[in-house]
Amino acid sequence: METIKKTDDDLKKIVAKWQPRLGLLDWDINIKFVDARTLNDNVASTKLSTHLQRAFITVLDIEDRQKSSKEHDIELDTVHELLHVRLWLQDSIINQRNNDYEDIIREQSIEHIARALITTDRQNNTL
Ligand SMILES: [Zn+2]
Repeated sequence: METIKKTDDDLKKIVAKWQPRLGLLDWDINIKFVDARTLNDNVASTKLSTHLQRAFITVLDIEDRQKSSKEHDIELDTVHELLHVRLWLQDSIINQRNNDYEDIIREQSIEHIARALITTDRQNNTL
């Protein structure tokens, strides 16, 4: 399989593209690649410091994606995490209730919206 080299700068470019679109310019957003062990087998994760409006996003590196046959769409995963930042208040309410059903619905909805945004963006870029 072809190895796609991606760096933290590529992630920062994706954030620079989507941060204004999602109305997140008042947030300080840090993003970097990490390995599968750090991410507990997830493809991405976000930690927030809401009172400072800071987000720390970690994205699974390409090498570990290839090892586990996970999708390589780092833009999709980044937009998914940025939507969690956008919806932080709703997220924190759901997290407090600790209800698995709400958690699944939330994740499905965010993933669906992220895929719709990415698909629309890529269609528009080919016009
Ligand atoms: Zn999620």
